[in-house]
Amino acid sequence: MRVGIGYDVHKLVKGRKLILGGLEIPYEYGLDGHSDADVLTHAVMDAILGAMGLGDIGSFFPDTDERYKDADSLLLLREIVDLSIKKGYFICNIDSVIMAEEPKLMPQISQMKKRLSKVLGINENLLGIKATTTEGLGFVGRKEGIAAQAVVLLKHKENF
Ligand code: MG
Repeated sequence: MRVGIGYDVHKLVKGRKLILGGLEIPYEYGLDGHSDADVLTHAVMDAILGAMGLGDIGSFFPDTDERYKDADSLLLLREIVDLSIKKGYFICNIDSVIMAEEPKLMPQISQMKKRLSKVLGINENLLGIKATTTEGLGFVGRKEGIAAQAVVLLKHKENF
């Protein structure tokens, strides 16, 4: 069994879509970044890569590479999942939390779970997605950005 952790932050700005877990969320601000800036999906990808001991998404999908400009992060996640399968791993479970002062994400969580678990190739009940505010504290509390954290447990089909 191998555990991995992922953490990501993107800045909230005007004129961008807010994409979380592959889902477009209605909000007057969106996350800024080279790709679609989907913090949740990025945290999940980093957790999977971390568990495999393969670094982070920055080395796989550099933000200097034009191919990843406004990229759909679900497609990038698919590449990481394919890589993990090729290396003989399968996902035991994933848990995650999105930190956002606004908007309220509760109504969208089940949709996000559907989208992400499909790309991950796992049953929905193996994927936890939670949302929390930070009670007005810090950059999240000031609505300057959104953060996400994810942890994943991988099992190798042959080795430990
Ligand atoms: Mg990111």
